[in-house]
Amino acid sequence: MDCIFCKIISGEIPSEKVFENDKVLAFKDINPMAPVHILIIPKAHIEGADCITQETAALAGEIMLAAKQIAKSFNLDTGWRLVSNVGEDGGQTVRHLHFHLLGGKKLATELA
Ligand code: AMP
Ligand code: ZN
Repeated sequence: MDCIFCKIISGEIPSEKVFENDKVLAFKDINPMAPVHILIIPKAHIEGADCITQETAALAGEIMLAAKQIAKSFNLDTGWRLVSNVGEDGGQTVRHLHFHLLGGKKLATELA
């Protein structure tokens, strides 16, 4: 499949992994927007948050648990942000569900 993140999962494209279990992978964003900028993705190819179904909804919870663990491992004790862009207007450029975990500075509050 022609999906950058599936290629990262398979190892075809290298990445700087920070967390992995049987369902979820997390790696450093290649173009960081904050001192800590991690992408957390399901290993299953789901195109975006708009494509989550009853059958795959539990993966979102797995991602949340991974986020909490990663935030702790990066010592983001004073807070962090988890964001998922969806579709063209949401600014999604890679159509494989991913959450941006951002932290390491006081983040801007504007969301739009
Ligand atoms: P989005 O714009 O929400 O779809 O986010 C896609 C993110 O993937 C962007 O922040 C990119 O910097 C990041 N990205 C694209 N290619 C790679 C890659 N090969 N390794 C790590 N991050 C990547
Ligand atoms: Zn994919």
